[in-house]
Amino acid sequence: MLDADFFRRWMTAAAAAVDREADRLTELDSPIGDADHGSNLQRGFTAVAAVIEKDAPDTPGAVLTLAGRQLISTVGGASGPLYGTLLRRTGKALGDAAEVDRAAFADALRTGVDAVAALGGAAPGDKTMLDALVPAVDALGDSFAAARDAARDGALATTPLQARKGRASYLGERSVGHQDPGATSSALLFEALAEAADG
Ligand code: ADP
Ligand code: MG
Ligand code: MG
Repeated sequence: MLDADFFRRWMTAAAAAVDREADRLTELDSPIGDADHGSNLQRGFTAVAAVIEKDAPDTPGAVLTLAGRQLISTVGGASGPLYGTLLRRTGKALGDAAEVDRAAFADALRTGVDAVAALGGAAPGDKTMLDALVPAVDALGDSFAAARDAARDGALATTPLQARKGRASYLGERSVGHQDPGATSSALLFEALAEAADG
């Protein structure tokens, strides 16, 4: 079973991963964006780790809703409201249970991913974070490692796509040949999740 401590470890590991990869995320956001994805998420997840430490939310749902609200209020770019919605809606779907199993978490995360799609109007194939998030949530029923691998493969598969949503879509065909920064950071979140599950 997954308890509040597990979800706090996930958010801490996510903050560390974003910190470690911030320069790379910003580099990916240079040719097809405005070169701020790494710094946006670094600011956001640093604030998430701090507020979780300070408030010590004591259910899985409370950890994720707090993290989501913090991202929405700290990150100005498109990714703040999108990741904020992902975590907040997943947290709300978990309710106030003290522990959840992986299947219930996968169901809740599906609600969160659907909310991201509704907010941004994007679908898989549009070269966004959804290209990593959707296959990851599909694979989460199998294992955390399967979700991690599916997110990574989904992020890599954005390279040949033409962006249809977000800033990169302004480039039209010139967005082809670059890996999407948001799909790459989504893969990092699932890498952090698999780490939290191991430790
Ligand atoms: P901004 O584009 O405002 O500078 P970021 O650079 O932080 O924001 O985030 C860019 C990422 O956000 C993109 O790489 C893409 O994955 C994701 N994104 C942008 N628009 C959408 C959308 N409408 N739906 C889903 N994801 C999106
Ligand atoms: Mg950007
Ligand atoms: Mg920006």
